[in-house]
Amino acid sequence: MTWRASVLTIFPEMFPGPLGMSLAGKALAAGTWSLETVDIRDFGTGIHRSVDDTPSGGGPGMVMKADVVARAIDSVAADDRPRLLMSPRGRPLTQQRVIELSKGPGAVLLCGRFEGIDERVIEARGVEEVSIGDYVLSGGEIASLVLLDACIRLLPGVMGKAASGEEESFAQGLLEYPHFTRPQVFEGRPIPEILISGDHAKVAAWRRSEAERLTRDRRPDLWAAWKARNPVKKEPN
Ligand code: SAM
Repeated sequence: MTWRASVLTIFPEMFPGPLGMSLAGKALAAGTWSLETVDIRDFGTGIHRSVDDTPSGGGPGMVMKADVVARAIDSVAADDRPRLLMSPRGRPLTQQRVIELSKGPGAVLLCGRFEGIDERVIEARGVEEVSIGDYVLSGGEIASLVLLDACIRLLPGVMGKAASGEEESFAQGLLEYPHFTRPQVFEGRPIPEILISGDHAKVAAWRRSEAERLTRDRRPDLWAAWKARNPVKKEPN
């Protein structure tokens, strides 16, 4: 079954952009996922097809109009896909949410611009706000590309066996272990001995311990959650 993405934007030419290449591009050509872009400006008002207006209450910038955005949303076939507004105010996107989304029918993505979108259309159309991080982009298009990329690579058949995703960062609540490949020595730094020992159990144990060490050192938030789920685990060195 095709995973369906509809993207509502005033810059449809930004899609598929990088998602037309590499694994995502091949999966698009193969019909693993589909992409529909909706130009919000087609639903704008007046001879300039205006999509924005000044903020009620004053202040800088412009706000995308509720009626225009509502018409754009309503132009997309009503189905059971979640409607997501890319927004710095949204719930932070996690690998867990990406996995959920990739197992569903697809997503309708709304890309904000200017100061954002009139609150009333967010409520009236049941739109879920999603953030890709604690920083502010100039528009939701790049955030949508990020979300789509993360979902598409998890669709059946998109990644090779090599990248099953099971050991990747976040999949089990830990960051991933470090990687090495030939040459054996790079600028005086050898590959850790254990990785060339041929002992699969020891390699697996080393990787697990490195994943734990990196998570503890770099992401205390993830480490605390991991420890709560694995209370008997001893601390890595
Ligand atoms: N005035 C807004 C605020 O302070 O929260 C920022 C608006 S931003 C300039 C324009 C659009 O970029 C937003 O409506 C949203 O669609 C998108 N955007 C910006 N940062 C984002 C983020 N961290 N995650 C997802 N979307 C983001």
